[in-house]
Amino acid sequence: MTKILIVEDEEKIARFVELELKHEGYEVAKAGDGRRGLEMAESGDYDLILLDILLPELNGFELLRRLRKSSEVPVIMLTAKDEVMDKVAGLDMGADDYITKPFFIEELLARIRTILRKQSAKSPQSQENLLTYDKLSMDLARHQVTYDGHSLDLSAREFDLLHYFMDHAELVVTREQVLEAVWSYDYLGESNVVDVYVRYLRQKIDEVFGVKLLQTVRGVGYTLRRED
Ligand code: CA
Repeated sequence: MTKILIVEDEEKIARFVELELKHEGYEVAKAGDGRRGLEMAESGDYDLILLDILLPELNGFELLRRLRKSSEVPVIMLTAKDEVMDKVAGLDMGADDYITKPFFIEELLARIRTILRKQSAKSPQSQENLLTYDKLSMDLARHQVTYDGHSLDLSAREFDLLHYFMDHAELVVTREQVLEAVWSYDYLGESNVVDVYVRYLRQKIDEVFGVKLLQTVRGVGYTLRRED
C-alpha cells in the first residue's frame, strides 16, 4: 500500500487531506510540527510527503534540507497563496512539486499520481527510461514512442512536446508552461506555436487511433487525459 505522510500544522487541512487520501486508497500518517515530521520522514517508510512550509518547531524548508541529506522520497510542498519565492526556493531545495493553498483536492490527487507514476517508472522493476500513459509508451533512451504497440514517427520537437505532456499527464498545463519547457524563452509570446504542434500530435495519435488524448482546456491550455 502506498504510504503518504502529511506534515501540516493546520489540523483542519491535514484532516481533510487525510480523509481524501484514505478514500483514494492511500495509507496516511500525519505530523503536526516540523520536528516530528522530520523524524517520521526519516524513518524512510513513506512513498511521498506533503509538506507545509510554515510549521512550528522546524519549518518546511529546513525539514526538507535535512531530509535530503539522507532521502530521495518525493516531496510536494504546500505553499500559501502567492508565495512565489517559496515555490522557487522549495524546488531549488529538492521538492518535487508544489501546490498553492487553497487547492482543489483533485489537483493535489493528480499531482500525487503523477509523481508516484514517475517514481515507479524509476524503480528497478520497470524498464529504465520508460514513460507510459494509457496506451502510449515512450522510451527516452531510444527516442521511440508507441501507441498500443504501434510505433509513432515523431519529429524531435513533437517528441519533446509529448514527453512534456506525459510527464504532466492528467494535469492542465498552460501554453506558456509548454512553451517555456519545450521551446525556449526566445519563443515567449508566440504561444500559437504550441497549438500548431499539438495539432501535429493529434494528427499522429488521436486521429490515427480514434482516441481523445490531447485535450484542449478552454481558456487555460491543454491536458493529456484519456477520455472514454
Ligand atoms: Ca502552516
